[in-house]
Amino acid sequence: MLSDPSRGVNAAQQPYDLLIVGGGINGVGIARDAAGRGASVLLVEQHDLASHTSSASTKLIHGGLRYLEYYEFRLVREALIERERLLAIAPHIIWPLSFVLPHSKLVRPAWMLRMGLFLYDHLGGRMTLPRSRGVRLDRDPVGTPLRSDYRRAFIYSDGRVLDSRLVVLNAMDAREKGADIRTRTRLVAARRVDGVWEATIEDASGQQVVRARGLVNAAGPWVERILRDTLAIKTSKQVRLVKGSHIVVPRCFEGEQAYIFQNPDRRIVFAIPYERDFTLIGTTDIPWAADPGEVRIADDEVRYLCESVNRYFRKAVTPEDVVWTYAGVRPLYDDAAQNASAVTRDYVLDVDAPAGEGVLLSIFGGKITTYRRLAEHALEKLAPSLPVLGGAGWTASRPLPGGDLGPGGFDSAVVRLRAHAPFLSADDAWRLVRNYGTLAWEIVGTAQRHADLGEDFGGGLTAREVDYLIAREWAVTAEDILWRRSRRGLHIDGAGQARLERYLDARREAVRDSRSAMAG
Ligand SMILES: Cc1cc2nc3c(=O)[nH]c(=O)nc-3n(C[C@H](O)[C@H](O)[C@H](O)COP(=O)(O)OP(=O)(O)OC[C@H]3O[C@@H](n4cnc5c(N)ncnc54)[C@H](O)[C@@H]3O)c2cc1C
Repeated sequence: MLSDPSRGVNAAQQPYDLLIVGGGINGVGIARDAAGRGASVLLVEQHDLASHTSSASTKLIHGGLRYLEYYEFRLVREALIERERLLAIAPHIIWPLSFVLPHSKLVRPAWMLRMGLFLYDHLGGRMTLPRSRGVRLDRDPVGTPLRSDYRRAFIYSDGRVLDSRLVVLNAMDAREKGADIRTRTRLVAARRVDGVWEATIEDASGQQVVRARGLVNAAGPWVERILRDTLAIKTSKQVRLVKGSHIVVPRCFEGEQAYIFQNPDRRIVFAIPYERDFTLIGTTDIPWAADPGEVRIADDEVRYLCESVNRYFRKAVTPEDVVWTYAGVRPLYDDAAQNASAVTRDYVLDVDAPAGEGVLLSIFGGKITTYRRLAEHALEKLAPSLPVLGGAGWTASRPLPGGDLGPGGFDSAVVRLRAHAPFLSADDAWRLVRNYGTLAWEIVGTAQRHADLGEDFGGGLTAREVDYLIAREWAVTAEDILWRRSRRGLHIDGAGQARLERYLDARREAVRDSRSAMAG
């Protein structure tokens, strides 16, 4: 299905059913669902999988309590239903998290919070997580880190996710079902020719032309640019880019619970236990007009986030405490709201299907939480033009790779892994199951002792895991490995990171040598 542009397109080759542009959560979710229905799929991602918005989230699988205030009942209901499904199909990388919401009467009255939480507990139907309840902060350990001016709080449940790993697992399952997933490959141009799309894609080795019956524009913050500049297609729909930033500081409270704080500007900020030793604090909501690839946190955002939590925590968080930051751009559907926080978080799917021509579907907005349902909706919209997509949805109950943890769930999988590899520390076994689920066995293999896992880069990361990430998860650079596949960047010092770079260089060298030996 690929051809060299210098030779033109070979019309005898079968076009793909779908060419998907974008390896964020929405692109890979659609690729997985479509490939599972028997469609031939090519997905191109210009950088690494999840290298933009889908790794810059607050990492929550949540209904979005705050959206109730904007009457987003459809979205919240769908997200709450999805929360239950995702907890079941990916129990390794998605797990429950309880939130403490201190009552501050200056922002919202207690009756309003109580009513919102009642709706939150009931809108999604069946709920396996604990329902919300009120607590006295002077009598409950969750009150310990909070200033004494806060007397009461509500505790409610949501879920947390390793966001970039959710993307990779969807991509792996899509590949398992026959999809061709190409990272570091960019869509350069596409036009409709003889009833299909003819697209030029580019990677480090040059350009190629591919054909597809349908094109999915899942380019997130770039969705409008793809339409306007790459496809030259007019649409009335617009994307509203809103930047959101996070800071990470050394752990600033004890316990597994997270906090949700209300600010005087009515925005909310989360403080979430992160990677055992840290606290994740976010986020901001700032209109963004520049290139989405250039997004960075600004100093005033760091100050805003510190001030937000310092209204509540006894122990102050200062900009000097910050050990890591990240920022992303929300590709929201532009509903003409005045305020960036009020723009709808719901998604809109725009289909362009002129008779007898290749169909185009563009995605505006969406949440990580709703990606699976978004994919089903997208395929429903494409099915009239592409009957192969018309089958029944199948992703609601099929585990993602590694998610088949078996009886006893996560905890017993950790026990089983330690029984299989007794040389692993409790922390290392926990981390391997959290990241890879049952695929952790593939990484550990037949190793009998720690040294069998190869070079140790610190933070539990070994050569065996690095090799797995390269072979199975499209990892190429140290950044892919340290920040998106494993988040070990927070735990490995400069010397360990430099050794990882050297290890990757040596591997690349070895591959080059074996290629030239074969060519010779
Ligand atoms: C600060 C913040 C916090 C958030 N928190 C949450 C949360 O806690 N829970 C939740 O459910 N949601 C959250 N979200 C929303 C969620 O992260 C996004 O809705 C989701 O990640 C968007 O995914 P996407 O696939 O549409 O976009 P992206 O992840 O940005 O993927 C689009 C991809 O398209 C690629 N691309 C663009 N142009 C081309 C081209 N020409 N060729 C090839 N590839 C191309 C890009 O490189 C990019 O990787 C948050 C978002 C932000 C910004």
